[in-house]
Amino acid sequence: MPKIEIDHTKCDGKECAECVDSCPMSIFKLENDGIAVGSGAECTLCELCQDLCPSSAINISE
Ligand code: SF4
Ligand code: SF4
Repeated sequence: MPKIEIDHTKCDGKECAECVDSCPMSIFKLENDGIAVGSGAECTLCELCQDLCPSSAINISE
């Protein structure tokens, strides 16, 4: 199962939310002011979130 990690020291949370808007599998959710990562079970490893994140805060691994 893919492992999805956010470095919260780099992430801009609700000010950005690019990953929430862009993931086709809705893995990321806005929770309070930050980003919550759901289960990687649905992740297709498309790497869209990694490519779009302006802070390079997302790490996807198999
Ligand atoms: S795209 Fe990156 S900086 Fe923006 S909310 Fe997601 S993890 Fe944070
Ligand atoms: S790699 Fe693709 S499917 Fe997986 S969390 Fe990122 S945008 Fe979503």
